Amino acid sequence: MASGRMAEKPAAEAARGRLLDGRAVARAMREDVARRVAALVAGGGRPPRLVAVLVGDDPASRAYVGSKTRASAEVGIAGETRRLPAAVEQRELLATVAELADDDEVDGILVQLPLPRHLEAPAVLEAVPPAKDVDGFHPENVGRLWLDQPGLTPATPTGVIELLRRYRIPLAGRHAVVVGRSAIVGKPMAALLLRQHCTVTLCHSRTRDLAAACRQGELLVAAAGRAGLIGPRHVRDGAVVIDVGMNRVDDPQRMEELFPGDAGRRARFAKRGYVLAGDVDFARVAPRASWITPVPGGVGPLTVAQLLVNTLEASLRRQGFAP
Ligand code: NAD
Repeated sequence: MASGRMAEKPAAEAARGRLLDGRAVARAMREDVARRVAALVAGGGRPPRLVAVLVGDDPASRAYVGSKTRASAEVGIAGETRRLPAAVEQRELLATVAELADDDEVDGILVQLPLPRHLEAPAVLEAVPPAKDVDGFHPENVGRLWLDQPGLTPATPTGVIELLRRYRIPLAGRHAVVVGRSAIVGKPMAALLLRQHCTVTLCHSRTRDLAAACRQGELLVAAAGRAGLIGPRHVRDGAVVIDVGMNRVDDPQRMEELFPGDAGRRARFAKRGYVLAGDVDFARVAPRASWITPVPGGVGPLTVAQLLVNTLEASLRRQGFAP
């Protein structure tokens, strides 16, 4: 695993909550990967190879895949994209995945989600061999995660654990509350926190009295996809607050509520017609938190960095350099 040093001093301080600087940690993670790739090649291995399968031309999916392949190239991982038309049939998509599965020089396969509605994502994700499943979405890897067996784990929650580890935030015995039960963030986040010996509460859209449940958390992870859902009454005094949410706010009044007097955001809104907001009402929650992630610059950069770590580790195992 990567070195245990904390990345850098946090870039700034909020009123009380000190910022967990995801950008700095992600940079340090990418530097570790670059060093390890160089050592792999120097030791006679080949560079890891990651292939993203992109169906259709949804702009957000294209942007995500583009940032993953660019980040791969920067650390010496050979990244490429297989583009398929939006109308591709399930059979053809499965054939593409099968071809990548059989290619001995492909270490990581990621199928960019969401897929167009006519396609069955679960069957596609199951077609990715677990050893190449760098997103950690295959049922075998999901089972391994919950059984505490080695396997690839989803990048976003794994990146959150790495952020907490590098800031030396203690987890064992602490009460962690996760808001959101998706297969890609909430559930694996809960499993990974259990693995760190937290007592875990997993909340979702049917949770009664969300604020009371959240207030139990010494660590609170918000992954609901609702801008500003988590306010000060959801947060225990001194909690560590991790905001996974990445939401577009396109209503100017809501933007002003969430970011009162924020000139930078106003300018971005004027230019693009929206701003990004987390699930946490940062301005009102930061004074209660001991540590808090900003949006952007918190969890987002960790996801791509952790994907590179996963790809490297899959490659090391497949090339016989790791057990
Ligand atoms: P999702 O829509 O699949 O799941 C959302 C979950 O939140 C559901 O389990 C739902 O029960 C719960 N939820 C919704 N409204 C709620 C409410 N009012 N109260 C309590 N629970 C509620 O979303 P997802 O894919 O897990 O993503 C969640 C957020 O994280 C989104 O904003 C997404 O953009 C963001 N995200 C960020 C990254 C990153 O790299 N930073 C990666 C993945 C997802």
